[in-house]
Order: sequence, then C-alpha cells, then structure tokens
Amino acid sequence: MNLSTTIAAPVAVVGAGIAGLACAHRLAGAGVPVQVFDKGRGPGGRLATRRAEDGALTFDHGAQYATARDPAFRAALEAAAEAGTAAPWDGRWAMLGEEGFTRVSASETRWVGRPGMSGLVKALAADVAVTQGVRITALDRDAAGLWRLTDADGRTHGPYHAVALTAPAPQAREMLGEWEAAFPALSRVRYAPCWAAMAAWEAPLPLPFDMARLEDPVLGLAGRNGGKPGRAPEADCWTLHGAPGWSRDHLEDDAATVARRLLDRFVALTGVTEAVRHLSAHRWRHALVERPADVSYLLDAAAGLGLAGDWCRGPRVELAFLSGHDLAGGMLESLAVAA
Ligand SMILES: Cc1cc2nc3c(=O)[nH]c(=O)nc-3n(C[C@H](O)[C@H](O)[C@H](O)COP(=O)(O)OP(=O)(O)OC[C@H]3O[C@@H](n4cnc5c(N)ncnc54)[C@H](O)[C@@H]3O)c2cc1C
Repeated sequence: MNLSTTIAAPVAVVGAGIAGLACAHRLAGAGVPVQVFDKGRGPGGRLATRRAEDGALTFDHGAQYATARDPAFRAALEAAAEAGTAAPWDGRWAMLGEEGFTRVSASETRWVGRPGMSGLVKALAADVAVTQGVRITALDRDAAGLWRLTDADGRTHGPYHAVALTAPAPQAREMLGEWEAAFPALSRVRYAPCWAAMAAWEAPLPLPFDMARLEDPVLGLAGRNGGKPGRAPEADCWTLHGAPGWSRDHLEDDAATVARRLLDRFVALTGVTEAVRHLSAHRWRHALVERPADVSYLLDAAAGLGLAGDWCRGPRVELAFLSGHDLAGGMLESLAVAA
C-alpha cells in the first residue's frame, strides 16, 4: 500500500546519521513523505570525515569501517557500492601486544564510504528531504494528535503525523521533555567518549600496517586513512583514537594538548621519527555505546513517537542501521493500522 495518500502529514526524522537515514529511506520507499532534520553540516553523524588544508588532507575521525552480517545492511552497502559511494577495504591490520605489532587477517569484509565515511549513507539520503544545520530542541503533540518540532532558533516545524528521534540517547532525552517517561529504557544507556587526533606526514610512514588496535592505556586505535578507496590526500593521513578510559579522564582537556599527547604515544609505540605536517583533535562526547538499551528500537505507536540509534543494540554502524530500519518497519505497521 502506498501510504502517502492515507496519512494527513509527513513523518519527521530527527538525525541524519545512519540510523535516521535508514529509517527515512525505508519509510520513503513505502510511499510515506518524510522530512529529516540534522544539526550538523552534512549527513552521516559519526560516519564523518574532517578535511584540512583546503581539502588537501582528509581524516575519517569517527567510525573507521563497517562490517555487515545482516542481509538488509549488506544490501544497503551493495547499493552504495553500486552508486560508487562505498567499497570493501582490504587494508593491512595489526594488533599491538606484548611482542609489539603483529599482523592479523580480516575475518569479515570491512566496508568504507567513498570518498569519506559519510559515503555509506549517501544512497539512503538520496530519496528523502534532509535539512541540515537545524538543531531540534523540543517536540509537542496537539489535541488532533499531530506533532510539531521546535528548533534552537525558536522556529516551529510541522505538523507531522509521527516523529522518529535518532540522536544519541542523551540528546534524544533532552528533546523528549515530558515524553521521556514513556521510554524508561533510555536512562540505562551509557556511552564512552573518544578523543580523535588527526595527524599527517609528508611521505607514507614506513609501518607494516594500515590500521592497528592497541591494548594500551592511552591509544586505542591508529588508522591510516589515505589508503582507503576513493581518497587521494597530499600526505599520509592518520587518525589516532584515545583509549576509552584515557579519553574519559582527559575529556575536558584542550584539543591541542590532547592531539600532542596522542601523537607522542603513537611515536613512542611505533618509533616513527618523521616530522608531522598537520596535527589536530576532535572530541566525541558520545562515541561508543558501553551499555545499550537492549532493544531494536522504541515506539509509542499510539502517539506516533519512535526512537532508534546505535544505543539500542550496541556500538557498531550495522546495529545503528538496523535499529533505524526496524523502527521504520514498526512505524509502517502502526501507520497501516491507523490508515
Ligand atoms: C571515534 C569513533 C569510532 C568508531 N568506530 C567504529 C568502527 O570502526 N566501526 C563501527 O561499526 N562503528 C564505529 N563507531 C560507532 C558508529 O560510528 C556509530 O555506532 C554509528 O555511526 C551511530 O549511528 P547513529 O545514526 O545511531 O548516530 P549518529 O551517527 O550519532 O547520528 C545521530 C545524528 O543526530 C544528529 N542530532 C543529534 N541531536 C540532534 C538535534 N537535537 N537536532 C538535530 N539533529 C541532531 C547528529 O548531528 C547526528 O548526525 C565509532 C564511533 C566513533 C565516535
């Protein structure tokens, strides 16, 4: 059934990360008119790429790659690959243990966006209206059951037939106001923060890996971003993620100090001697879900209010996608009943 002729107003989705866009894409595919809002400059959320020196340098400073076990997510990645915005990546992997760096082989295909990680969501965003740069602060439902959203500039958006919130749980709670009481599972969610340093060298570093996970108190991951498909930076660009405990302990430090500390640790562990060309850092306050809500999504079907995101099931791109995709399934069921 095409639902566009049976519902009185569009559905609003807050958040253009992979959860929000998976939700919006599935709703739109069923004929539901959808409007997506996001506070950021472009879609993708934590699937993000930072450019420096007028685009000469690029860093995937959030998620490094995605793996796919579920057929629905695999199909979405294959559609993105077909459109040229995603590709499998066969970078060399290593672990740092007591014997130093050891190469490890990949047990599953690792997917990356092209030319940056947000490429993974481009195909999902293609068939929906996305408004960037709008931070939603509150939502209200009127006596007729229609929703309106208020943004940080005091503007009102709507009316909407239903609303899907797909921001990280703490940000969703801020928007919900009195509606939070309908979703008690939200309050159990915890995120670990992550500091991401971005460092570039003139020439490729003579290291025998492109990405390494580290059992280290300071550094959690080091990844060479320039070698991923579709990127051609002028220099050797690396992202250095702080370990979760270290990132939490240094969360309020200034970015320049953090960038230097993470770089110093990388240099100490790898023996790199080359001079660095670029160094900066980004603070992810809500980076990796430590304690999920253990649900696929949350939905008050009678009110037309749903929530999705990685916080439902765990800290992976695929789980965020599935949460948004499944929320759309739940909303479609309730819309069909109401139609
Ligand atoms: C440093 C780091 C490394 C990671 N590494 C990996 C990895 O290698 N592999 C992997 O699978 N996963 C990884 N992850 C996790 C993965 O990135 C996330 O689980 C996934 O991207 C979350 O998607 P999401 O749509 O749930 O949330 P998000 O991507 O956070 O999207 C939420 C969106 O909501 C928007 N928003 C928030 N509040 C508002 C508001 N009030 N109004 C409007 N818009 C709003 C935000 O701007 C954002 O775009 C990593 C994450 C980080 C931070």
